[in-house]
Amino acid sequence: MKVKVNKEACIGCGACAAICDEFFEINDDGLSQIKIDEENKDLDFVFVKEELQDEVRDAIDSCPTGAIEVNEDSNANN
Ligand code: SF4
Repeated sequence: MKVKVNKEACIGCGACAAICDEFFEINDDGLSQIKIDEENKDLDFVFVKEELQDEVRDAIDSCPTGAIEVNEDSNANN
């Protein structure tokens, strides 16, 4: 599972970061961004670790604008 935040759709409500602050953070522009590690820094969609997937799915469901996009076809091995 990989996700990205659509900056055009995010309104900076903070719900995603409140639900899963290990994965999402609010940046200096007041919008959500994914906490990027070295492994993911050049990727458009970012891998979600197995242990965070339930929280990230909750954050996706809670986003009022549907700004968090999911690529379910991917897993941590590709
Ligand atoms: S829940 Fe959605 S709108 Fe709110 S900060 Fe996160 S991505 Fe942006």
